[in-house]
Amino acid sequence: DRYLSGLDKSRRSFSQRIRNLALNFTGVNEEFLEELMIVLLEADIGIRTAEKIIERVETRAMDEKLKKFDEISECLIEVMAEMYEEAGTCDDHVNENGPTVVLMVGVNGSGKTTTTAKLTKLYQEQRKKVVLAAADTFRAGAVDQLAMWADRLNVPCIKGREGGDPSAVLVDACRYALEEKADYLIGDTAGRLQNKANLMKELEKMKRVVGREIDGAPHEVWLVIDATTGQNGISQAQVFLETTAVTGIILTKLDGTAKGGIVFAIRDQLGLPVKFIGLGEHPDDLRPFDLQSYLYSLCE
Ligand code: GDP
Repeated sequence: DRYLSGLDKSRRSFSQRIRNLALNFTGVNEEFLEELMIVLLEADIGIRTAEKIIERVETRAMDEKLKKFDEISECLIEVMAEMYEEAGTCDDHVNENGPTVVLMVGVNGSGKTTTTAKLTKLYQEQRKKVVLAAADTFRAGAVDQLAMWADRLNVPCIKGREGGDPSAVLVDACRYALEEKADYLIGDTAGRLQNKANLMKELEKMKRVVGREIDGAPHEVWLVIDATTGQNGISQAQVFLETTAVTGIILTKLDGTAKGGIVFAIRDQLGLPVKFIGLGEHPDDLRPFDLQSYLYSLCE
């Protein structure tokens, strides 16, 4: 199963560390909570989130007089699920009257182009008609890379020239998607973080122009985050959130890290749900994020 094998590193590391806690367990005391804290931090859950989790586990263990290790580890999973869910849900935004426009944003190298291909595959499996827009005209090779995926997946890809205006590409793509009665238009954009003001201007312009072409567009703005970059990736993500309205997170490269706890840090620190997770470089390696199955596979 690609899902389980993609999460292998995180699964082995987290569940092993939790099991190790059982070895010295004498009760929910300061020593145990300190060790638990270390396990959570090693999984990249983040200090703020970890502290909240610890506090709740401690309170609940007292209130419910939990004594056995199994009870505590179960309580831990419940608390993690609760915290994730409390942050609120976020519905999909689908355009019922025409193409749903999705913009992919994020720093270079986070996996935007690859994820655009993976999303295409996912929508194709749902029998949706997809059009791509290669609006990352900044990164050398990004346009060709997307065009290659489009070729392989047999979907049209609207291109501009390298260094050209990404908004112009998006306008062309919107018109094409309308004409072709596409279900989805996915725009791969550039992620220049060097200059926040420019980034903001460019993103705002892209949103404005697609909004003029298609009602309510962009319907989704997905921020792509590389899971292997940990807290640093979250800080970079914060810059995007300050810059533009993001509707959801796509977390890539979870197969390359043992720190799967980052899902919880993202939820808590960015206040946005993880919509999809990337588990490899193949177009099949994208899964909708499901909290229960994720937690279950992490802790089993
Ligand atoms: P972009 O600059 O944001 O468009 O990033 P790319 O899509 O070019 O991805 C950068 C690198 O990360 C490429 O080598 C991808 O194959 C790789 N990559 C993307 N997503 C994943 C993933 O989920 N798992 C792994 N292992 N590699 C990934």
